Amino acid sequence: MDWLDDRCPDALTAAREARERAYAPYSGFRMGAAVVTNTGATIPGTLVENVSLGLAMCAERVALFSAVARGEGQPQILALVAKRTNKQLTFPCGACLQVALELGGLDLIVVVSDTDGDCAQARLAELAARLPHKPR
Ligand SMILES: [Zn+2]
Repeated sequence: MDWLDDRCPDALTAAREARERAYAPYSGFRMGAAVVTNTGATIPGTLVENVSLGLAMCAERVALFSAVARGEGQPQILALVAKRTNKQLTFPCGACLQVALELGGLDLIVVVSDTDGDCAQARLAELAARLPHKPR
């Protein structure tokens, strides 16, 4: 893989480790994420489900919100590790893309991997250019 950023492999490793901590007793669809910020921090996130199903929170948003809570600057990479969805690599959902756009902007790199290590990457500009975003 010709990475868009040299930090992508480590971000995926952190996301893979976070996936092991997923709390997914209802779906069994374990997901782990990690955010790399411009301060050099790597911040994990993991899926957290609830018996009240609508309260589940995606791994990616847990990581993005944690980056804000920790004051670790601007997210530059968002990594996600999960099983495939309908045979395709699983990318962040629309809600997570919207949050990533707010905090990281269009240049943020989204990198995903399945559980076999097959990867893909994209700039948020490719995935979310037409979502509402704050003025630049
Ligand atoms: Zn999501």
